[in-house]
Amino acid sequence: MASPGGTPAAEGSPTPSGLARWFGECYGREPDLIWHAPGRVNLIGEHTDYNGGLVLPFALARGVLAAVAGRGDGLLEVRSRQAPREAASVRLDRLQPGSVTGWAGYAAGAAWALRTAGYEVPGTSIAVDSDLPIGAGLSSSAALCCAIVSVLAALAARAGARMPSRTEIAAMARSAEADYVGMPCGIMDQSASMLCEAGHALLLDCGSGKSSLVPIDPAAVGLQVVMASTGVPHVLADGQYAARREQCQQAAELLGVAVLREVTDVSALTVLPDPVLLRRARHVVTESSRVAQAARLLRAGRLADCGGLLSASHASLRDDFEVSWPAADRAVEAALSAGALGARMTGGGFGGCVLVLLPADRRAAAKEAICGALADGAAEAGVWFLTAEPAPAAREVWVSR
Ligand code: ADP
Ligand code: MG
Repeated sequence: MASPGGTPAAEGSPTPSGLARWFGECYGREPDLIWHAPGRVNLIGEHTDYNGGLVLPFALARGVLAAVAGRGDGLLEVRSRQAPREAASVRLDRLQPGSVTGWAGYAAGAAWALRTAGYEVPGTSIAVDSDLPIGAGLSSSAALCCAIVSVLAALAARAGARMPSRTEIAAMARSAEADYVGMPCGIMDQSASMLCEAGHALLLDCGSGKSSLVPIDPAAVGLQVVMASTGVPHVLADGQYAARREQCQQAAELLGVAVLREVTDVSALTVLPDPVLLRRARHVVTESSRVAQAARLLRAGRLADCGGLLSASHASLRDDFEVSWPAADRAVEAALSAGALGARMTGGGFGGCVLVLLPADRRAAAKEAICGALADGAAEAGVWFLTAEPAPAAREVWVSR
């Protein structure tokens, strides 16, 4: 699959009219509707989601465009510009989980989740285009599911069905990925894609599902949030993610709580007999408190002061949760030594991106320092930088006349 973000550059970003043209070439007619759903970065709050804790993502300008038109033959036909040789055609009455594999599984899962929630999904042609790096930790999968659930729901709404709420769409998009495709995921990515606003991050309580918007405008205060790849692909490495979840669950049981989020005082963790479990739990408890502090600082207009929290998050992920990887540690160190205010690994661990908060005038120096720190053969080739500016949630971008 061609990743549009191998070296992400804004030029060449897909446009609704460009996708409508390609849709016409594929299906011989114009689409009825096009939706855009963004990817996201998570400012802080790693491995807190499945512990019922807090996360603080914001939506990116980059995302997935999905175009649809109804058709009368009861088929769901899907095409992606990023996977031109992997078109798929599925009968909507045969959509059971697992029956469609590859990228088209996400699209089939979106239709399946809508039907499972009681929405009518008639025969539909879908075409997708994206400027999100795929598999880089910017949540192209959730953006894809949110775009397709949204555009299918909007098409049904045109025919008189109730339009689901944004929270409902996020839940269906999560179900498409978790229950249909079978990728274990929480609700953060889909919530960010559906609920964010420009100039805001989303403080999401993964336990209660409650969320609120928190203002963040790096450019207004001369700062940037930059995502830098480390040249190491992110994979849910050989059971490590599942092992961490299991350890958190064990620690919670030993502490007599349902989820680690319920523990707010690290001194309560000393009763844990196993030093590994203690370290895992300490990451979750301290990370939750860092997210809450970051949200408070943002509400007070003090983004620059969040830098220390980001670096503390990285140290905790490296030393207590042990999910960091050498290239991420080197990139974080290099960024800080080049004048960044804070930096941390992002995602599940063992590969992917680091997030750097820096004064705009330190960007070039930080880029040079990070590339220098990673310049060991394969890593160098894959390094890219992307400025993350808090952008709006999913929205309709094109309606046929
Ligand atoms: P991430 O969400 O971090 O980008 P994932 O591994 O969760 O990484 O999801 C990547 C998968 O999502 C791809 O392998 C592909 O199946 C699907 N996907 C994402 N964007 C597209 C796209 N534009 N076209 C086709 N499939 C896509
Ligand atoms: Mg994903």
